[in-house]
Amino acid sequence: MSAQNGTDERPEFATIDGRIVPFAEAKISIMAPGLTFAVTVFEGLRAYWNGEQEQLFVFRLAEHLARLQFSMRVIEIEPPPASADLAAQILDLLRANDLRQDSYVRVQTYVDDWGEMTATGPVGSSVICRSRPRVAGFETGKHFAVSSWRRNADDTSPPRLKAAANYLNSRLAGLEARRAGAGGAIILNRDGSLSEGPGGCLFMVRAGRLITPPLTAGILESITRLTLLELAAGLGLDCQEREVDRTELYLADEAFYCGTGQEIVPILSVDGKNLADGAPGPLTRKLQTAYDDVVRGRDERFRHWLTPVYE
Ligand code: PMP
Repeated sequence: MSAQNGTDERPEFATIDGRIVPFAEAKISIMAPGLTFAVTVFEGLRAYWNGEQEQLFVFRLAEHLARLQFSMRVIEIEPPPASADLAAQILDLLRANDLRQDSYVRVQTYVDDWGEMTATGPVGSSVICRSRPRVAGFETGKHFAVSSWRRNADDTSPPRLKAAANYLNSRLAGLEARRAGAGGAIILNRDGSLSEGPGGCLFMVRAGRLITPPLTAGILESITRLTLLELAAGLGLDCQEREVDRTELYLADEAFYCGTGQEIVPILSVDGKNLADGAPGPLTRKLQTAYDDVVRGRDERFRHWLTPVYE
């Protein structure tokens, strides 16, 4: 497993409203409600290069597009682009950019042109993909700090939607963590128990048991979280979805942060307090290896989660 930093390299082509164009030509209106009122929902996906098979695999494409449909339905982006069309656009764009390395895909839909806050159309869509190596924190782990910002709630700005508007909360927490010298933020919900991080979910290990906050804690229904719960159960690990207090995290033997972009980042300390000996734990390492096998197509049992890009 290699550890590299991400890049901000621009791709040659992007897709806008179903058309592949040079990246610089993919633009939306400055009065689009997608911009002025953040009427934008999106998905971030990873595609993994398998060198032996010379194949690029998009991980859990169908699940990401199903979540996008849900987000569009709730914020009323109408009519929603069909998942089959978006799937074809994603695969076509990866091929157009000839990506043959680990890559990241972002697909977003929004209300474009000019309109008021409750406008439901005209609907715009865009896809970008770029090379994106694994984050360095996968190997090294990171120090986390609990944020003073509380997670937005289901009755205000629902975290279950992958809506651009929710990332104001994430940004505030992320800025605070960075100012405090931490590598990541942990966000509590209104009840004071753990929700998630700015762009990923949280797990801890206590006495060999894997524990993660429930779907009702104010979190995105993360595809990585679900994947890891399934892999952990397959490895014979005891898993629990339940509320977690801030101070219980201090008692954890291990903890990690997970999501499509971050994959699995070991949490070394929380609020300056080391978790166990302050190094990535054995169970975290085991799950990282299992996850890597699955996403790269080395574990045949989970091949149905992968969509090959090339013939
Ligand atoms: N929570 C938030 C707020 C996120 O932005 C992400 C990243 N999409 C996640 C959790 C993890 O979700 P997933 O595993 O589906 O990428």
